[in-house]
Amino acid sequence: MSSMNSVGRPTAPVQTNDYVHPTLTGARGLLQDEALIFERDGWDKTGVDLPQATRPADDLDGLLRTAPIGLPGLSEPEAMRHYVRLSQKNHAIDLALYPLGSCTMKHNPRLNEKAARMAGFADLHPLQPQSTVQGALELIDRLAHWLKTLTGMPAVAMTPKAGAHGELCGLLAIKAAHEANGQGHRKTVLCPTSAHGTNPATAAFVGYSVVEIAQTADGRVDLADLEAKLNDQVAAIMVTNPNTCGLFERDVIEIARLTHAVGAYFYCDGANFNAIVGRVRPGDLGVDAMHINLHKTFSTPHGGGGPGAGPVVLSAALAPFAPAPWVVHDGTHYRLVEDQTGATAQAFGRMSAFHGQMGMFVRAYAYMRSHGADGLRQVAEDAVLNANYIKARLSDVMSPAFPDGPCMHEALFDDSWLEGTGVTTLDFAKAMIDEGFHPMTMYFPLVVHGAMLIEPTETESRQELDRFITALRALAGAAKAGEVDRFKGAPFHAPLRRLDETLAARKPRLRWRPETIPPLAAE
Ligand SMILES: *Cc1c(COP(=O)(O)O)cnc(C)c1O
Repeated sequence: MSSMNSVGRPTAPVQTNDYVHPTLTGARGLLQDEALIFERDGWDKTGVDLPQATRPADDLDGLLRTAPIGLPGLSEPEAMRHYVRLSQKNHAIDLALYPLGSCTMKHNPRLNEKAARMAGFADLHPLQPQSTVQGALELIDRLAHWLKTLTGMPAVAMTPKAGAHGELCGLLAIKAAHEANGQGHRKTVLCPTSAHGTNPATAAFVGYSVVEIAQTADGRVDLADLEAKLNDQVAAIMVTNPNTCGLFERDVIEIARLTHAVGAYFYCDGANFNAIVGRVRPGDLGVDAMHINLHKTFSTPHGGGGPGAGPVVLSAALAPFAPAPWVVHDGTHYRLVEDQTGATAQAFGRMSAFHGQMGMFVRAYAYMRSHGADGLRQVAEDAVLNANYIKARLSDVMSPAFPDGPCMHEALFDDSWLEGTGVTTLDFAKAMIDEGFHPMTMYFPLVVHGAMLIEPTETESRQELDRFITALRALAGAAKAGEVDRFKGAPFHAPLRRLDETLAARKPRLRWRPETIPPLAAE
């Protein structure tokens, strides 16, 4: 029953009791239907009047533009409204609970934002003389100290720009260490079946072949399978702890021992550090390298691909292979070490042009200082408590993937409870949008059929969790009562209906291509 609106996008159908007719304009309430900025008929306008250039052509050595520039022309209010309306169609952590598992979408405290905007941090240039940025270097050094203390690791590389970039940093350090030790022939990296996709992707990117480690029925690394696959060709294992099923790897010390016994390194994916921060030090578990997503554990904002920050803590064995630069204090001044000589001569180089994501460092440090050591410990405890509350309150209507025992920071359900209803995990997630909640992570980890992975984080109150749980319980009831239409066509109330997500992922149309660009009207 869906129809197309003026710019060819499907509009809402008329099926629910609330809506008798689709709107005539494609708008919803006060939210107008939004065309691409290029699709608005604004080619003949400019937002500003510039004086005619006095010497237009002769400085440009024949490079003067002859064709139209191809920028849409909108007035300031038109441009402003376009972008504000678009922003209203996005979901954000500042709008509501964002239950994505694995991604850790927690509140970004405004205090952090205030600190990051201080001119002494925000207005720095990365090429400024070091004598003029002593405070910024001190902050990087203090943050590094907190990260090393919280993880029990002796070194940290601050420059990686995200978790995945941190994985790359860790594996490059591992590769450099093996090469320096005459072990460059090692070509394999082991990853559990529940691994986040970035783990095998990073290993392959660095040139390793990836071998899967099986998982036990209770969602942990299968030790027997790990032992069978460990040999002198293995460069490293990559294990997430707590893992992507939301469970602590009970045998993690034995995993480290077995790994080290064959001369391989233990890369721990630390994306879930928020579940154990202040309670467990990965260094005590035998970890050699671990990235810390500041945008997860330490509450800095996730961006559309950035800017994130993924510092990597390193064991004593890997510390000499850390990328440049790092900060040292020589008694009176802070200094960036850029040259890798002496003990660090075989390190692999740099991860990024400058010194890392300064704005994120300030936010993460502000978060640490505002919580204090005891507060960070409580972060982990509350994150785990919230996830277990969700697990406990939904387990009678949905099916937990690992019903026995508590979970860590995320509650994982499978789709066996939907069997026979005609509703899939995808349908259920889409219906959540109609009820005002962003879906949880779906179909990940892959080892759990129709997975629904919910991570509330510590920043949600009991009241918020109850509202979320009430909505999910109501939906679960509707699915079991045979209200299939409510799910199959969902979302009904979102600006856009159900989209072909596979096509969008496989053949993304990222660029608008003009048929013809009308020339700008002469001033
Ligand atoms: C988020 C995540 C990553 C990747 O981190 P980015 O910062 O998004 O690059 C890797 N592993 C796990 C388990 C994650 O949740």
